[in-house]
Amino acid sequence: MQNLMKILILFALVACSDVEKKPTTETPAEKAGQSQSINDDKVNVQNPMDKNMNSANEAIVSSSSSEELKQACLEQLGNLPAPFTNEHTFKYCNEMLHDVSCNSTLGKPIFHFDKGSAKERHIKVLVFGTIHGDEGAAGSLARDWVHRLKDLEPRSEWRILPILNPDGLEKRTRTNANGVDLNRNFPTNDWFDSAQKFWRKKGARARRFPGNAGGSEKETQCIIKHIEDFKPDFIISIHTPYGVLDFDGPNVVKPASILPWRRLGHMPGSLGRYMWKDNEVPVLTIELKGGEPLVQKQMEDLQDIIGTVAIRSLKSLGRW
Ligand SMILES: [Zn+2]
Repeated sequence: MQNLMKILILFALVACSDVEKKPTTETPAEKAGQSQSINDDKVNVQNPMDKNMNSANEAIVSSSSSEELKQACLEQLGNLPAPFTNEHTFKYCNEMLHDVSCNSTLGKPIFHFDKGSAKERHIKVLVFGTIHGDEGAAGSLARDWVHRLKDLEPRSEWRILPILNPDGLEKRTRTNANGVDLNRNFPTNDWFDSAQKFWRKKGARARRFPGNAGGSEKETQCIIKHIEDFKPDFIISIHTPYGVLDFDGPNVVKPASILPWRRLGHMPGSLGRYMWKDNEVPVLTIELKGGEPLVQKQMEDLQDIIGTVAIRSLKSLGRW
């Protein structure tokens, strides 16, 4: 019942929105032809924010000031390599937000951070880290960007989800708690025809299982909800360990970078195929080398380079 209420409230909020939508408005469940509550029977954890949801007008994004949420934030940060100092950790957790519908399979909150642009005309960049739980350095980079952005007047508007797969991060597994590779679970147009077929052809490795339906997982649904709400012009997904930058987007001149540019390609159920091929939103995949976190200068340079590529891409697409 509680889950049904959540879906109804979300639906009401989406239906009331007067903002023009990108072509990604179809929910993952609709694309997959499945009920959105596909995983509901597996989740029995009380969302700490549920008690605050008294009406549809209640803010869907809540500041993570409640003790329970702050504790969850601190625990998740503790699972990332290259820890902050305590002072930074507390500052960081005070700035994080939580969308009430964004929780992991085991009920952990999935946090995000928002920073507006100082420029009137700007692009919107969405970043997420640790979609694969055994790639902790990806979360460290996203976390460091949050920390840097707090004191910057950026030219782009940023939304960052440093830890998209908190259950996997805790257990150091690539997959989520249902054993699904979230980067094969996006409801691409070819998901039903190809995702499991492709997986079997590649050896049916458990760590790359795409799930039983596109968009079946709570974490996938969370990122798609952020895509629908935030309407990014450009998406960045951070991984390890290949040490390259892989771009799914228009042909643009790439600035020199500490990581070489190399095409890795996208596949059924992957973010690149879902957002670029199906929905024409460019996706940059950062593959950090060997899982080592970047030093501060590299982290800053990379963020600036990405801002430049994002603007060039949008110019090339005639959206800037
Ligand atoms: Zn990965």
